[in-house]
Amino acid sequence: MIKFPIYLDNHSTTPVDPKVVEFMLPFFTEVFGNPSSKSHEFGWKAEAAVENARKLVARLINAESRNIIFTSGATESINLAVKGAAEMYSAKGNHIITTKIEHEAVLDTCKNLEKKGFNITYLDVDDFGIVNPEDIRNSINDRTILVSVMYANNEIGTIQPICEIGKICRSKHVLFHTDATQAVGKIPVDVVRDSIDLLSFSSHKIYGPKGIGALFLRSRIPKIRLYRQIDGGLQERGLRAGTLNVPGIAGFGKACEIANSLLNGESKRINYLKNMLYNGIITGLNGVKLNGHPDKRIANNLNLSFEGINSDSLILAIKEIAVSTGSACSSETAETSHVLEAINVDEDLKRSAIRFGIGRFNTEEEIQYTVNKIIEKVNYLRHISMNSEKGKYAEA
Ligand SMILES: *Cc1c(COP(=O)(O)O)cnc(C)c1O
Repeated sequence: MIKFPIYLDNHSTTPVDPKVVEFMLPFFTEVFGNPSSKSHEFGWKAEAAVENARKLVARLINAESRNIIFTSGATESINLAVKGAAEMYSAKGNHIITTKIEHEAVLDTCKNLEKKGFNITYLDVDDFGIVNPEDIRNSINDRTILVSVMYANNEIGTIQPICEIGKICRSKHVLFHTDATQAVGKIPVDVVRDSIDLLSFSSHKIYGPKGIGALFLRSRIPKIRLYRQIDGGLQERGLRAGTLNVPGIAGFGKACEIANSLLNGESKRINYLKNMLYNGIITGLNGVKLNGHPDKRIANNLNLSFEGINSDSLILAIKEIAVSTGSACSSETAETSHVLEAINVDEDLKRSAIRFGIGRFNTEEEIQYTVNKIIEKVNYLRHISMNSEKGKYAEA
């Protein structure tokens, strides 16, 4: 039996896993201490919980716990990494390299730095949404202090050649930051293998609570230093002041532990559901185009354009299914997606794009229902559309 509405917007956020909720509960009541209180048991217990979570968060990306800084989410981690490095190393240089398809958290931060005199290179991607590592190599100059390239895209799911980019940055002695919010917990992310210096991610994209995230900060010689963005106490090695969100951190740790234990099996299952959705839709409809790379993509993402359809009309027609047009962050504005723009999707197809984000709690029944509904409503909307020429979108 299907429970409506069906949630297929897991790039935007995920429900908290019930096991995570259960694990968090005592941290609101019994273990409520402040980890900075060193003089009593309440503080010690909270500190122990935080340090346990730090280990679990670190393990998911093959890092050491001392290299994890807790923040309020990926947006804050990105701000700390990018602004923190820019301000700290401004004497060395003022050049930063990123891509045109980053999340707003990165793009906006870079725009802000531009106003302060930094020089930002926004690299193009190919029509699949992949950045060429050689373009990064060629853009690095002696004023370059940071390269920031996302691990996997939140709209089209494309996975970047992070390992190659990491090697290039390491060999050129340039810091490498990656926004891995959509990759962590879905594909194996390894900060050692990928030569990553700074990595941002978030709990609420991996079935943990909202308002908690992490920044990985490599310890290496010479030590990476960041200019802190929040002043106050000396929490988180002085890099992020403020009382720690102990329930959030405990839940984030639990979510990482679960993600780690499920990693392979879950991505296989989600890939199976994704293929079922995709094959079902393209078997039933003509004029459907996949946005992004056919296989270098995270398993849970399906971004499709439907010829002759306006995505807002389709979304209204399938109210019982929660999906999004473009990215959830930019859907508050009327602009079309900067990501679809960067991969050269035609104007009409850009306005007809729908992002499906499959998650841990979706079922085959839900996917089958979605396939049928999409086919029915796309056929209907094409049929009533004045502009569609007769017969052009005949049912397949
Ligand atoms: C969701 C998301 C963010 C922002 O994460 P928050 O924890 O909500 O601040 C950043 N980058 C990507 C790729 C995302 O998907």
